Amino acid sequence: GIIEDPISEVTKDVLKWAEDQTVEIEQLKKNEEFRKEFLGNVSHELKTPIFNIQGYIHTLLEGAMDDPDINIHFLTKAAKSTDRIAALVEDLESISQLESGYLTMEMETFDIHDLTKDIFDSLEFMAREKQIEFGFKAGADAPFIVEADKSRIRQVLVNLISNSIKYGNTGGRTLLGLYDMDENILIEVSDNGIGIEAEHIPRLFERFFRVDRSRSRSGGGTGLGLAIVKHIIEAHNQTINVRSSPGIGTTFGFTLKKA
Ligand code: ADP
Repeated sequence: GIIEDPISEVTKDVLKWAEDQTVEIEQLKKNEEFRKEFLGNVSHELKTPIFNIQGYIHTLLEGAMDDPDINIHFLTKAAKSTDRIAALVEDLESISQLESGYLTMEMETFDIHDLTKDIFDSLEFMAREKQIEFGFKAGADAPFIVEADKSRIRQVLVNLISNSIKYGNTGGRTLLGLYDMDENILIEVSDNGIGIEAEHIPRLFERFFRVDRSRSRSGGGTGLGLAIVKHIIEAHNQTINVRSSPGIGTTFGFTLKKA
């Protein structure tokens, strides 16, 4: 018959326990690394605009104030830097709320087509600067009723649509597609802008990841937009994906539950 070997069972348990501990320690180490990297990123992002403001103010105080042209020029630059700090702090607040895990989505029923029209109107001034046209794809120009947190989904669409402008070409277009799936509505934001190289796609939704740092900054980017977008969609138990071809354009697509 079969002879039971209690020692080897115990040994197995101990080995399993040791393995679990190692996994846990590895995870803690990783968290600690993420935390350090995140803090480093935040202070780095804050440093630049704060040093700039400091520089402008000191130069003004040291006599540049007497020249009205320089005056306006420096104040405009200082204002831009304060806008950057404000945007960063706002995005950090969103990230920390979303990552705390305590945030519940306030579900309501609304028309995603209407919401998009609203957002197109509010971003019209930004699009006009680059002569970018907004539009709906065929079939998307009708009500599509979803159940989701409207203000968070507004945040998602504002991020994706303003990215399509920032990384779009002058004279380009941003199109919104709406598709009826079985249980969900698929929402796609497409541009015919600069596109993204395949090697960068896996890192796109990481906090502070940017393909081109200076292009992101000059467009007022914090590098947190897509991380926030992903958090919000996942908090709805839905998915987001992206496809892109350099020089041709980019499409971000996410799903929401049909009402
Ligand atoms: P940012 O504030 O830099 O725009 P995001 O998190 O919104 O930060 O986006 C991260 C990076 O992804 C951007 O810096 C840009 O390189 C790239 N990206 C996002 N959207 C697009 C797009 N529609 N076309 C091309 N690149 C994009």
